[in-house]
Amino acid sequence: MSRIFVFLGIPGAGKGTQAKRLSNDLNIPYIGTGDILRRNVQEKTPLGLKVKELLDRGELVDDETMIEIIKNEIKNTDSFILDGFPRTVPQAKALDNLLNEFGKKISCVFFLDVSDQEVIKRILARYSCVSCGKEFNLYLDEISDKKCPVCGSELKQRSDDNEQTLKERISQYRTKTQPLVDFYRQKDLLKVIRGEGSPDEIFSQIKKVISRYDNN
Ligand code: AMP
Repeated sequence: MSRIFVFLGIPGAGKGTQAKRLSNDLNIPYIGTGDILRRNVQEKTPLGLKVKELLDRGELVDDETMIEIIKNEIKNTDSFILDGFPRTVPQAKALDNLLNEFGKKISCVFFLDVSDQEVIKRILARYSCVSCGKEFNLYLDEISDKKCPVCGSELKQRSDDNEQTLKERISQYRTKTQPLVDFYRQKDLLKVIRGEGSPDEIFSQIKKVISRYDNN
């Protein structure tokens, strides 16, 4: 059975955390466009060099580039979880066309609903380990020395997790991504998840929706 889930939400809503967890739980691939772009920036590929400044400023990469990336990622995969794509209406329409072409369809779209104040608080406390890559929240995980509790290496912030860039990312979200909530609501694919509990609570809401969907 093909299963395709999309995660929507403001930056810092917890899409990455929940999408990766669901990917492990269902054993289907996680496709996170932010991770793909950051990997390219780190490896200084032609794509990475092209997008680095946009990412640092919190602006979106152009639709054509993003659609090409997704096309390559999904063409040979039956089931997958999308995090960070689509982020604009043209991307969502292109995704529909690609899925039609490949004879697949979206199972449902999870919209993680979180307030601006909450995401700002979360993002400014978000760190990851330079060595093992594990992600932490300095408040939730009660870390005071910015050292990885798993391997002891240094914890670092993402270069776009600062106040200035965050403002731009939220503004881009409001103008370009938020319209997708209605886009998917009209298609009857939207599942609104209150994203302000603990990661465990939020995940159990997601699983509840999926089990209902599996039973139909
Ligand atoms: P994320 O990790 O999802 O917060 O994405 C980090 C950054 O990557 C965003 O601020 C954008 O600059 C870029 N990005 C990721 N996904 C997309 C997309 N679908 N369309 C345009 N830009 C994207």
